[in-house]
Amino acid sequence: MIAYLEHFVHGNDTESKPNDDVAGLEGAFHFGAPAAAAKDFGGMKSAAPLAVIRPASGADVARAVRAAARTANLTVAARGNGHSINGQAMAENGLVLDMRAMEEEEDHLSLSHRDGSLYVDVSGGALWEDVLKRCVSQFRVAPRSWTDYLGLTVGGTLSNAGVSGQAFRYGPQTSNVTELEVVTGKGEILVCSEGQNSELFFAALGGLGQFGIITRARVAVQQAPDMVRWIRVVYSEFEEFTSDAEWLVTLQERDGFDYVEGFVFVNSDDPCNGWPTVPVGPNQRFDPARLPARAGPVLYCLELALHYRNEDHPSAVNMEVDRLLGRLGFVEGLKFSVDVTYMEFLLRVKRVEEDAKANGIWDAPHPWLNLFVSKSNIAEFDRQVFKKILKHGVGGPILVYPLLRTKWDSRHSVVVPDSNIFYIIALLRFIPPPPKGPPTEVLVEQNHEIIQLCHNRGFDFKLYLPHYQSQENWMRHYGDKWTRFVDRKATFDPFAILAPGQKIFSRIP
Ligand code: FAD
Repeated sequence: MIAYLEHFVHGNDTESKPNDDVAGLEGAFHFGAPAAAAKDFGGMKSAAPLAVIRPASGADVARAVRAAARTANLTVAARGNGHSINGQAMAENGLVLDMRAMEEEEDHLSLSHRDGSLYVDVSGGALWEDVLKRCVSQFRVAPRSWTDYLGLTVGGTLSNAGVSGQAFRYGPQTSNVTELEVVTGKGEILVCSEGQNSELFFAALGGLGQFGIITRARVAVQQAPDMVRWIRVVYSEFEEFTSDAEWLVTLQERDGFDYVEGFVFVNSDDPCNGWPTVPVGPNQRFDPARLPARAGPVLYCLELALHYRNEDHPSAVNMEVDRLLGRLGFVEGLKFSVDVTYMEFLLRVKRVEEDAKANGIWDAPHPWLNLFVSKSNIAEFDRQVFKKILKHGVGGPILVYPLLRTKWDSRHSVVVPDSNIFYIIALLRFIPPPPKGPPTEVLVEQNHEIIQLCHNRGFDFKLYLPHYQSQENWMRHYGDKWTRFVDRKATFDPFAILAPGQKIFSRIP
């Protein structure tokens, strides 16, 4: 192994010293490119690494980073579950760290109390679905803030934000961690929090893996409910949909729903984009006769959930749901609900994954687009994008729901629009691969058209899970936070070793 690294190093830079830092690895080292490390969920990029390391500990991660630092050109990418879209977890001719190997070393969680709150310490390579299962089975607690799909790693979502229907109340997942263990681009292992190495803590959260590799996170948890009333209500008018959604996200805890999301669907019987995608329970049917005559090419659905415990009386749950729904202006008769366990609710996208895997669409290219758009521009976005460009759907969910900026910490690296309420928009395309489906480039082009439209109309918006080809675009993305981003890079990863797949900085020899 070392000889191979030496060869690689000398082949490219005679000044670099061969190193034997990685010699003490507790985990495993694989030369070449195991296929998975060169691919991601997007299925549009491929970059083969020099080697894949399966770290057994933070010390292994540090060894790998230090080994790369002693060369002139090796880079290191932490790979969570590879669910990026644009090669962000890849390292061409570099080292890929398979972070999930660290999770496999840990089975038991440690629960801690501080200032009346509960926390669990989890590996950066843990899948959120495993965190959920362990938290509930060992302590009957659960993290407060989630993503819709839980086959993602803790480090992978904390490097972005981690958003779902709980974020209006608790903020993104990045707002729900109090301490991290991070391996910086200098190969140091540092514990950081608001009070200790705070700049690294804020940098790493939403930092696109640029400042350090998260090997452990302390995540806020709460008592897990037993059951969830899962509800969908339909709107024909965007203004009514947004006004109800915005009212719901401003309600206090115990006074509102525990989860608020929304989506756009096509006003037709299209099985992927239309009416059949709305019902949640068995034997429920969408009755289009209920729709008003003025309904346009697309419709809107609020997706809501209320948590409850087994001992809660059914009539109390019904009363609470009726009280809240009674204030909403959805189309009468287009309400769907089902009672499911809390685990079933949180793992609901697992079923989508299983179906998509069975019909080959999971492994097809996924030209997805995620945006944050200010409340002030969302009606125009609806008119120009949902009602025109996307009026036939995207072959999968089009999410749109409001978030509150007060729940986002501006000291973190992620950037969001300026307004107090902004919307997350996610075009989650699940299209059969060409020739059955349209060429992927056409869909990528449609994404660019939407981004360009946002620029041309001067929208206050940001890409979520951003991806750009040029540093100029990264500068525009970060705006007045760019200098801070660059300074943090110089401090924590001065040779730009980490997360090369984000294509923000070039490796400095
Ligand atoms: P990877 O793709 O493996 O890595 C992403 C980036 O983070 C890379 O740059 C990588 O180098 C870096 N990285 C990975 N691990 C670490 C670490 N430990 N320390 C530092 N850097 C690291 N996002 C949401 O917010 N909400 C959702 O509901 C949601 N649903 C999704 C559903 C699906 C089916 C998919 C494919 C994606 C979804 N996402 C969602 C996006 C997802 O959060 C990001 O793509 C996330 O990065 C994926 O996590 P991962 O573990 O696969 O990370």
